[in-house]
Order: sequence, then C-alpha cells, then structure tokens
Amino acid sequence: MKTIESIIIGGGPCGLSAAIEQQKKGIDTLIIEKGNVVEALYHYPTHQTFFSSSDKLSIGDVPFIVEELKPRRNQALVYYREVVKHHKLKVNTFEEVLTVRKMHDHFTITTTKDVYQCRFLTIATGYYGQPNTLEVDGANLPKVMHYFKEAHPYFNQNVVIIGGKNSAVDAAIELEKANANVTVIYRGSDYSPSVKPWILPNFDSLVRRGNIDMHFDSHVTQITEDSVTFETNGVSKTIDNDFVFAMIGYHPDYDFLSSVGIDINTNSYGTAPVYNKDTYETNVENCYIAGVIAAGNDANTIFIENGKYHGVAIAQDILTKKQAPLES
Ligand SMILES: Cc1cc2nc3c(=O)[nH]c(=O)nc-3n(C[C@H](O)[C@H](O)[C@H](O)COP(=O)(O)OP(=O)(O)OC[C@H]3O[C@@H](n4cnc5c(N)ncnc54)[C@H](O)[C@@H]3O)c2cc1C
Repeated sequence: MKTIESIIIGGGPCGLSAAIEQQKKGIDTLIIEKGNVVEALYHYPTHQTFFSSSDKLSIGDVPFIVEELKPRRNQALVYYREVVKHHKLKVNTFEEVLTVRKMHDHFTITTTKDVYQCRFLTIATGYYGQPNTLEVDGANLPKVMHYFKEAHPYFNQNVVIIGGKNSAVDAAIELEKANANVTVIYRGSDYSPSVKPWILPNFDSLVRRGNIDMHFDSHVTQITEDSVTFETNGVSKTIDNDFVFAMIGYHPDYDFLSSVGIDINTNSYGTAPVYNKDTYETNVENCYIAGVIAAGNDANTIFIENGKYHGVAIAQDILTKKQAPLES
C-alpha cells in the first residue's frame, strides 16, 4: 500500500491543471490515469480542430503557441505532454482506478496495479468514456459507433449520423468530403444553437445542395445489418445503411461516483453530482470533482476553457484544511 497526500483520478486537461495547482501549494499529488495523458483528446477525430483558441486551452502558465488561432488535436497532444514534463507531474498512466473506499480520515484506492491511501481525492474522470446509447432494436450492432475517427473507410458507403450537435455536424462534413452517402437524423426542429457558427454555413450549404440528406424532428426506430428505419412526424421510412454514428452525447460514470458516496441530483435541469460551487468539494468530505464531470449531463456548460480553473479552488481548499488546527 502506497500513501500519498492527494490523488487525482483522471489525467485529462482539468485533472492535469488541478495537479499543477496542488503542486504549487506544496501538496504532494499523484494523478492516476487509466489510459494515456489526455486520453479523451487522443480519441477525438484525427483531424479535429479545437473551437477554442490555444491560449484558452493552455494550463499551468505554459504558453500554447501555434501559428493558427485554433489548434488541432495533434498540436494539443504535444502541448499537454510538454505541460506534464515542464511541471514534472507525477502521472501513473495505464492504471485504472477500480474502487474508492472512505475510512475515517483517508481514502483507500484500488487500481488495476496497486493500492493507495490518501487524505484528499479529486475525481476528474470526464465523460467521454461513457457515450449515451440508443434504446432501439439494433443499437448494439457492431456497425453502430459512438466515436468518429476518420472518413476514409466510409468512401461510397451509406452512413447515418444520429444527432445534430457539433460532433455530428463535423463528422457529416468530413464524411461527405470522402464521398460517403450521408443521412443525418436529428430530433430537433432546427439546427442546434450549440453548433459553432463558423461551421454551420458549410453544413447548411451541403444540406441545401442535397449532398447531405438532413431530417429534422426525426428519431431512429430500428437498425438492422443493412438498413435504418426512422420516423418523422409519425411517418416511418426505411433506408439502406452500412454504418451508423450515434453522436448523441456522453455522460459521467454515475455508478462510480455513487460508489464513492457522492450524491447525484436529478431535477428539471438534468442530472449532476452534488458539490460545493465554491470549493468543488462533494458531500464526501475531502473528495472533490474537477472538470467536465461537474456538469453532469449538461456537458455543454464546462469545457477545458473553464474546467481548467476548478483546480485553483480545490487546491486552496485543501491548503486551508491542511493549515487548520487539528481537532483535539
Ligand atoms: C471533438 C471534441 C472537441 C472539443 N473541443 C473543445 C474545445 O475546443 N475547447 C474546449 O474547451 N473543450 C473542447 N471539448 C471538450 C473537452 O474535450 C472536455 O471538456 C475536456 O476533455 C474535459 O477535460 P476533463 O479533464 O474534465 O476530462 P477528460 O479530458 O475526459 O479526462 C478524463 C480522464 O479521466 C480518465 N479516467 C476516467 N475514468 C478513470 C478511472 N476509473 N481511472 C483512471 N482514469 C480514469 C480518462 O481516461 C480521461 O483521460 C471538445 C470535446 C470533443 C469531444
């Protein structure tokens, strides 16, 4: 069993940023990451361009300088590796946290490789590992995917994209360029307001020219090996299909959070973990959440741009607790 003052689960941009803030305050911190550093960004589409400018993605006072205003995925991978090197962060990669148990004043953390004890715990596990799934026949067929990487394999294929937000629109544009026969099925009545304004005109012109077959007010009712059936305002239609990208969002691992003892709140705004908005401490004492996981199902409210600051408040709260006189 290894003892460390503070453990951060998740080596995404917000977990790294939280570690830097804790390190700055002299808190001995270890990041445990189940994949590689910034695993979620590694799994973005290969040619993804960020919607944020590089300064907004930068963390730990390490400048992120690229020629273009908005960096691409590969440039960000290089950048975050450099941040880890620059700040000499302790990151155990390819080690998954399996369980967390709170015992009196410490947490016992069991991973795929070891067992740790820590006084402070920050959960920064993001949401990208848990895609929302469809509740229709055929949703589990191997041809139904939740992550888009590259368009090349889909040349001359009939591809359905389910969803109408940025990931769906980006994938549709790339697939159309690669000569896929693209149909987009979206439950909204119009384009989602979250679609980036500089992307929408390009997408809309492809729809107007008939290069992308766009269906609003529509939902998929069945997927088979070679077809997709969907309904638009009560009218059912079946089309030939080879591949489906269900780009319908992601959600935090609520089972994991609950297993730690963190309360999950569901109300008319959605589902989200319970935490103090000033300190990011959850209802479990000395256990914090950082990054997009704090947004719960409403992932469009926290990004790298703002989630990178959570660590500042967390580090300050940990320091305050460390400096408080021990109760007799
Ligand atoms: C295509 C795309 C483009 C985007 N563009 C932008 C943009 O331009 N600007 C912006 O601000 N945001 C952007 N985002 C959103 C951004 O990626 C997320 O907000 C960001 O990744 C959140 O960082 P995080 O550290 O909270 O979580 P993540 O980056 O998801 O990191 C969580 C980490 O926790 C690890 N983990 C999970 N469970 C465990 C476990 N049990 N044990 C150990 N490790 C675990 C995961 O492997 C992962 O590395 C984009 C998202 C997508 C999908």
